[in-house]
Order: sequence, then structure tokens, then C-alpha cells
Amino acid sequence: MHKTGIVKDDRYMDHVADGYHPESRQRLEVLYEMLREPGMRGQYEEIPPRMATQQELELIHMPNYISLVASTAGRSMTMLDPDTYACAKSYETARLAVGGTLAAVDRVMKGGVDNAFAFIRPPGHHAETNRAMGFCLFNNVAIAAGYALATHRLKRALIIDWDLHHGNGTQHSFYERADVLYFSTHQYPYYPGTGFFSEIGNGPGKGFTVNVPLTAGPGDAEYSLIFEEVLEPIALQYKPDIVFVSAGFDIYFRDPLGGMQVTPQGFANLAKIVLDFARQTCDGKVVFVLEGGYHLEGLRDSVREVLKTLRGEILAEGRQGEARSQADRRLIDPVIKKVKEALRPYWKMN
Ligand SMILES: [Zn+2]
Repeated sequence: MHKTGIVKDDRYMDHVADGYHPESRQRLEVLYEMLREPGMRGQYEEIPPRMATQQELELIHMPNYISLVASTAGRSMTMLDPDTYACAKSYETARLAVGGTLAAVDRVMKGGVDNAFAFIRPPGHHAETNRAMGFCLFNNVAIAAGYALATHRLKRALIIDWDLHHGNGTQHSFYERADVLYFSTHQYPYYPGTGFFSEIGNGPGKGFTVNVPLTAGPGDAEYSLIFEEVLEPIALQYKPDIVFVSAGFDIYFRDPLGGMQVTPQGFANLAKIVLDFARQTCDGKVVFVLEGGYHLEGLRDSVREVLKTLRGEILAEGRQGEARSQADRRLIDPVIKKVKEALRPYWKMN
């Protein structure tokens, strides 16, 4: 069994919209409630979050953008972009979201836990260095990767983004850097519009951005195959010192925003693939960070399966699983071929 840390704090509920918004506090309410179920309670080590410092936010964000978000504090409602709100407490909540993710990194790096999951909001992967986007204020995972390299003196970090949407902010943060490899599967063309397979990085970062743009339809078997055939070989060659997962659950089959078909078991399988190669390259140091996921029961059931997988309590389906052979290769083969073509100059690919 592994020791798995979790970050949870009721203050993450303080970021609230006026009226209906899919990125709501109910998302964490159902997760925190699930963590109190008999089979879950007491099984995970709680990691208390802290406020991220200005210097930590500046690992990714411009000082004038941080000041802009700070200026929303105490004001009833500010729209930072058409989808992205800030209430009186959002600035503080967003800083606590970053700080919670950093606390998870510290605990994993110091060996207090083997892996961790930060149940935080607002989410982060759309946030750019200088602007809020797509429900995101500060880019939690990007700051955490920068922090892991700077503070824990690591050489390489891998960020895997399985959210339905492309993590434009994360990609742009490291587009010209080789010390953070960004891998994303996402629905395409779709919000936010970026993430074509030809976007592979720039300058010294060339080959260190990997995009797998998918049309609607892929489910458990197809996602597992993409992870095994594209992500795993690159990860094993890259040899990250820490792995992050921008874990969005909007690829769940009933998510209101997406067209993917992943089930709770499918999320567990993806987590298992990631844990397996992370064990080979970095002793299994993986930090999961919550991004999207808007079907409340789907979010709850999927996260439960991922957590049990992180802890080693359930075994995900083996590689020769029945489901694999049922994969609809027509949904993924053309894109896998194009991704491999784009990345072949940089990585050994079959
Ligand atoms: Zn999303």
C-alpha cells in the first residue's frame, strides 16, 4: 500500500459566483463528503494548505496581473473574462489553491507521503501569465512545477493534463523550456482553441510539449491506449523527477461540457499507467491537482477510484484487459500517427 496525501480545506468553498456557474463550490462539497465515507475516512493523510507567497505566484504570473486579481478582493463581483468570476474572497481562495498544491509538493518531496491529490479550486490550467481564463485565476499546476524545480532543485517535471480542455496557460508557461514537459489530451477543436498536434514547443522547448487533439468519442480503452503508446514511451525517456496530473474529470461520459466517454474505472486505469512509469523514473512521486469536472456524481465516483488506485487499494485493469481489445482504433489511430510524426525528431517512437 502507498501513503497518499490529500489537500482539502473548507475555505476553498469561498469562491462563489452570482447565480449558476458550472465551476461551483458543490464540486468540492461532493468530494469532501465522499472523503468521509466509511471506506475513505482516515485512509488518507491530510496536508494542510497555506497561502502562496507573492514570489511563488511570480514563478508564473506577471506582477501587474497578480495586482489585478488582488484588486478584486473585497469587491462583490468582478468578471475577469466572460467565463471567469472573482468574488470578494476569490483572490484569497486562489492563493490558497496554489499554496495547497505547493504543500502537496513539499510533502511528496520530503517523503511524508508517496503521492498526493490536491482538492482545490478555483482550477488553474487555463490561467495565462498575464490573464484569467476559463474559470482559472492562478495556474496551480504550472506554479507547482516551477516551484518543484526551484525549491527542491529538481531537473525535470512532467505535467500530464487529461482534462477535457487544453491547458493553454500551462503550455504557454513552459513552451520554450525543456525542464517541464507538458502532455495534454483534449477535445479539439474546442475551448480554448489551442492544442493542435503541431504545437510541440519552441527553441530549447521544442519536443517538450505534446498535444493529442481528439474529436469527441474516446472512452476508457482509447484513453489507455493513448497513454501507453504516446505518453509512456516519452515519459520513460524524459525521466521526470516529479510528475503532475492536471486531473480534469470533464472527460467523464456524462459530463455536461464534454463529449468523451471515460468511466470511473477508466480514470483509475489512467492513474495506474501514470503511477507505473512514475515508479520507474521518480519513485512514484505524483501530485494530482483538480482541474475541471462538472457532473457532480461522476466527479465523486471517478475521484474515489483514482484515490483508491493512488493508495494501491484497487488494481486497475491489467494491460491485457478485455476492454483494451474493444478499443475503437479509428477514433485514435489517425491522431496517434500524427502526434508521433510531430515528435519523432525528439523521441524514440515506434
Ligand atoms: Zn476542463
